[in-house]
Amino acid sequence: MTRKYNFCAGPAALPESVLEIARDDMLDWHGRGLSIMEMSHRSAEVVGVAEQAEQALRELLGVSDDYAVLFLQGGASTQFAAVPLNLLGANQAADYINTGQWSKKAIAEARRFGTVNVAATSEDTNFSTIPARDGWQLSDNAAYLHYTPNETIGGVEFFWTPEADAPLVTDMSSTILSRPINVDDYGVIYAGAQKNIGPAGLTIVIVRRELLGRAHDLCPAMLNWQVAAENDSMYNTPPTFALYLAQLVFAWLQGLGGLAAMADINRRKAQKLYAAIDGSDFYANPVDPACRSLMNVPFTLADDALDKVFLAESEEAGLLNLKGHRSVGGMRASIYNAVGEDAVDALIAFMQDFEQRNG
Ligand code: PMP
Repeated sequence: MTRKYNFCAGPAALPESVLEIARDDMLDWHGRGLSIMEMSHRSAEVVGVAEQAEQALRELLGVSDDYAVLFLQGGASTQFAAVPLNLLGANQAADYINTGQWSKKAIAEARRFGTVNVAATSEDTNFSTIPARDGWQLSDNAAYLHYTPNETIGGVEFFWTPEADAPLVTDMSSTILSRPINVDDYGVIYAGAQKNIGPAGLTIVIVRRELLGRAHDLCPAMLNWQVAAENDSMYNTPPTFALYLAQLVFAWLQGLGGLAAMADINRRKAQKLYAAIDGSDFYANPVDPACRSLMNVPFTLADDALDKVFLAESEEAGLLNLKGHRSVGGMRASIYNAVGEDAVDALIAFMQDFEQRNG
């Protein structure tokens, strides 16, 4: 068996060593004679895995006891609704920064539940920049300020943390665990798991405890963070297998040296790839160099008639899922934590060879 290089934007590559452990555990988890998938979520085994996952995530990100860590379902898209349902009061506004397709979806969903103020947008640059902080028009009565620190489709990333009086709410789906952050800067951090955490089906919410208890009367119990916190994320059956895999991924990250070590690797990977793109007349990346994503690298070919050939040949070469998002076209290489430096080297070598033959 040869494993191929996977540049998928999500569900994304998982560390091979994690998959090997899962394979070995599959039929008989730690001598129990069952797989972890077949055990009650109330069992000591599964509760233990959940506790270990929470502990490791707290250590990796530096999450204090002032925050609840929730393991939920529904993906980040469900949190687009849960955020206003948990935080937006009747006489308040919700401030949003629009930096791309995922910001837009969060904004559209929040509009169902109350007053939304788009405090800044980079749509006029086709989402290739981040609007400068001094131009943001924040509301006086904001319940929160929401932003998307990494736009998975556009490949735009914040390398600074916005400051505001209102609690900061952030969709970290495609950047979480890629580098250290200061959790205390945030009111709420949420993320779908299927990029840097584990398989799809698990959603993580990290919420400052003082923000619990503000939910709208009509907020469903399943979306209410306080209900989840009071029930240790077991108000209903959590995605136990996804949680188990996430715990293995967290342990893998800890073994690597944590987020500072991961960030060094991620920076190296991204720098190489952007350097290869910038160093050629054949490939181009449209994003302002000050906010180019470390995780998602979109690029175009000088002649888009060659896109299909590029995709077919790259797949043939064992480099999978390089097709850009349907809304932007071109290519996109997602180089999340589990995509090794060897994968990026192989991609660059392929790109250079392709250019020589077609440029
Ligand atoms: N936000 C961002 C930044 C994303 O990249 C994605 C998925 N690609 C989502 C939200 C939606 O996540 P989910 O599919 O988990 O709902």
